[in-house]
Amino acid sequence: MSDDVPLPEVNIGMVGHVDHGKTTLVAALSGVWTDRHSEELKRGISIKLGYADATFRKCPKCEGTEAYMVEKTCPRHNVETEVLRTVSFVDSPGHETLMATMLSGAALMDGAVLVIAANEKCPRPQTKEHLMALEIIGVDRIVIVQNKIDIVPKERVLENYQEIREFVKGTIAENAPIIPVSAQQRVNIDALIEAIEEVIPTPERDLESPPLMYVARSFDVNKPGTKPEKLVGGVLGGSLSRGRLRVGDEIEIRPGVKDERGNYNPLFSEVVSIMASGRNVEEATPGGLIGVATKLDPFITKGDGLVGNVVGHPDKLPDVLFDFTMEVQLLERVVGAEEELRVEKIKMNEPLMLSVGTSTTLGIVTSARDDVVEVKLKRPVCAEKGSKVAISRRVGSRWRLIGAGRIV
Ligand code: GDP
Ligand code: MG
Repeated sequence: MSDDVPLPEVNIGMVGHVDHGKTTLVAALSGVWTDRHSEELKRGISIKLGYADATFRKCPKCEGTEAYMVEKTCPRHNVETEVLRTVSFVDSPGHETLMATMLSGAALMDGAVLVIAANEKCPRPQTKEHLMALEIIGVDRIVIVQNKIDIVPKERVLENYQEIREFVKGTIAENAPIIPVSAQQRVNIDALIEAIEEVIPTPERDLESPPLMYVARSFDVNKPGTKPEKLVGGVLGGSLSRGRLRVGDEIEIRPGVKDERGNYNPLFSEVVSIMASGRNVEEATPGGLIGVATKLDPFITKGDGLVGNVVGHPDKLPDVLFDFTMEVQLLERVVGAEEELRVEKIKMNEPLMLSVGTSTTLGIVTSARDDVVEVKLKRPVCAEKGSKVAISRRVGSRWRLIGAGRIV
């Protein structure tokens, strides 16, 4: 992204069932294809969280919806467009086996675009599961996209519109606008940008508190065979939820890594550089995904090794919890599978998959009263009281969302 546009100020999730067009839509808005990894290209589905920035603009001469675009020059009037703001899209994988990755991305989202393909009956399992995940995490600024309108007749577009309206009734997306688009043919992208501008404003940020960054990706950026003296430190990818992080800051990373005795130790390092939107910046603030280069051993950060950790100034982070008590609200039915079973009560000793922030961990239930459940974690989490927890249970061969928790 070029230097003359503002840095991203808001994170918008792209969610929905596999193959409905999330990655194509991100590409239509940003020009970036987020399925970058060879395995993703081979399998044709998003596996990791992808992200790309887009700068929304407005033509000063166009009237109404037509004025919204991402082009620097309006193709109709050949005049320079005005910058509205830059947004970061977080592209979720839509496959049912990748819910943990989707949930980890949801922790970063200020709002979301729910993509629904018009050529399939709505809702498909992950359409439902992703909307439920947004509800559990509290992402309530939602725009619905009805995609692939180029390959269905008009009657089907209308019928599908009714299916969507029926499906979102009683959910947090009940009043979300539904924008018909073709991501592939770039039809109605202006209307989508206009809806995002209206429905997903940039939230007020807390810039005064010490920084808190959720790690969603982590990398070793050294090419294989790099000489030891040329190696650069590990890179952390994620987003700040509050505060400012600066180059040169001392940082702590919690919960950190496990030692031979099985204890978790926080990591300490220093911010060597910060990348935002392909640029080196001196300071990062909330909104937008950033890459933070550290002095950590890249072996620790490679292959997403530090996903789920939290970064901040030393001694200024929430506590590391090895167990916690949560207030629980169970769903009536298990979502995500074709067959929707009733959700049974949580039982003593049962294993649950718990998503807290960008972290996913296994918890064993050590006490279960009606709506208060205590869990002992396999891997600790760094989280504040009041944090939201997405609770999944093993149903058949998969983890399925069964409810929402709040750490007390
Ligand atoms: P994702 O799994 O939701 O990220 O879906 P992708 O963006 O990877 O798209 C899945 C397939 O649908 C690809 O073959 C796309 O080319 C196709 N596709 C996406 N959007 C459209 C659209 O608007 N119209 C048509 N005809 N195909 C589309
Ligand atoms: Mg995709």
